[in-house]
Amino acid sequence: AEAILSATDLVKHYPIRGGVLRRTVGQVKAVDGVSFELYKGETLGIVGESGCGKSTLGRLLMRLEEPTSGSLIFDGVDVYKQRGRAMRKLRRDIQIVFQDPYTSLNPRKTVGDIIGEPFDIHPDVVPKQGRRRKVQELLELVGLSPEHINRYPHQFSGGQRQRIGIARGIALNPKVLICDEPVSALDVSVQAQVVNLMEKLQDELGLSYVFIAHDLSVVRHISDRVGVMYLGKMAEIGDEDEVYSRPTHPYTQALLSAVPVPDPTLRNKREQIVLQGDVPSPANPPSGCRFHTRCFKAQEKCKVDVPELILRPDGAGEHFSACHFAAPREIIETIDVSGAA
Ligand code: SF4
Ligand code: MG
Repeated sequence: AEAILSATDLVKHYPIRGGVLRRTVGQVKAVDGVSFELYKGETLGIVGESGCGKSTLGRLLMRLEEPTSGSLIFDGVDVYKQRGRAMRKLRRDIQIVFQDPYTSLNPRKTVGDIIGEPFDIHPDVVPKQGRRRKVQELLELVGLSPEHINRYPHQFSGGQRQRIGIARGIALNPKVLICDEPVSALDVSVQAQVVNLMEKLQDELGLSYVFIAHDLSVVRHISDRVGVMYLGKMAEIGDEDEVYSRPTHPYTQALLSAVPVPDPTLRNKREQIVLQGDVPSPANPPSGCRFHTRCFKAQEKCKVDVPELILRPDGAGEHFSACHFAAPREIIETIDVSGAA
């Protein structure tokens, strides 16, 4: 598969300031050495608990933040080295859909203005007299009526507002869409509709998605591959099916074992892995493997040696795990994806 986006050793540390002199007294290691590729036309899901760095990673991929170090190549172009006109061109190609459809749309603007906003920043994409028609096309593309163009955000439901957010996200014909918890604020019944819309648009427009979320079942449904983050690092990454049914990293195994089991006949068959303690502070991550303070498999070695992402031992698919003792563990399938077709 051909990569459209390729991240190498991305690092983002934020200084912590303290004292009257506001000196730097520490660093929050929000993203701390993350590498992966996004293939053309695929959806890469990124999951993890809050504070694992997934949202910061999304902002780095959009270059809404400058990295502390590391590189990002988009379609052969070194993103963090671009300036001026070249960077503006890149901004068209990588767009974002935000989490909260209630706060990300300006309540005083019409839907037409909101969706047309990207054309103000990139006026060369659609000529002025063609804009209204283009916005109406976009409304239709996301399943809304072209007549909605003069309405305001409060006249729409949460699901419809997220469709408006998506229309804005695809207005400039981007190649990559960074989706930061795009359905988390929506009712479960509406989530599937929005996810289905995103899949339809992906096929029609040839988009590649990075889909960031904490909800394991939503990520499973939409993703081709999945990366699991813990404290600023990638713990495991691989084909969706392998990561979900035969995870090799103890953290992924624990996360999946905690997903509720709806079927009572299966409930007793699955052993729940209970993690010790809370997620440590990203300002002071544990030595060695960051997960060692909570891991049920931790050994002495784990406190000292940082595990690298390596191909899983039995070589099943393209599946990497950052664990000294990575081993596949069958997880009884309980994630219901039937709600979305
Ligand atoms: Fe657990 Fe050690 Fe593997 Fe880290 S390296 S996940 S502490 S077994
Ligand atoms: Mg897909």
